Amino acid sequence: MVEVVVELEKCTGCAHCRDVCPVNVFELKPRDQFPDVVDDPAVGAKFQFRGEKSLVIHGPDCIVCEACLFECEGECITIKDDEGKVHNSTYK
Ligand code: SF4
Ligand code: SF4
Repeated sequence: MVEVVVELEKCTGCAHCRDVCPVNVFELKPRDQFPDVVDDPAVGAKFQFRGEKSLVIHGPDCIVCEACLFECEGECITIKDDEGKVHNSTYK
């Protein structure tokens, strides 16, 4: 089963992952629903944190198209495919 993990402290809430994912893996939730998450200052210095963070709710549906990995501002998405290979996000 494919695993999709987001490091929420690095997620800027840019919504790029949600917008590009063809199988709707990502759903955005209001930031105040994550009271324990502290924004990463290194990411904050580069990007503006939006009023929302992303939450993964349908990780097993992921078809590993990698579209989200190229669009993730916070470089905070990691995907482990069926063969155990790990795919990391690299924002360009
Ligand atoms: S790699 Fe998976 S989670 Fe990312 S956009 Fe493609 S299907 Fe969606
Ligand atoms: S693309 Fe990355 S930074 Fe943007 S909302 Fe998705 S997980 Fe967060």
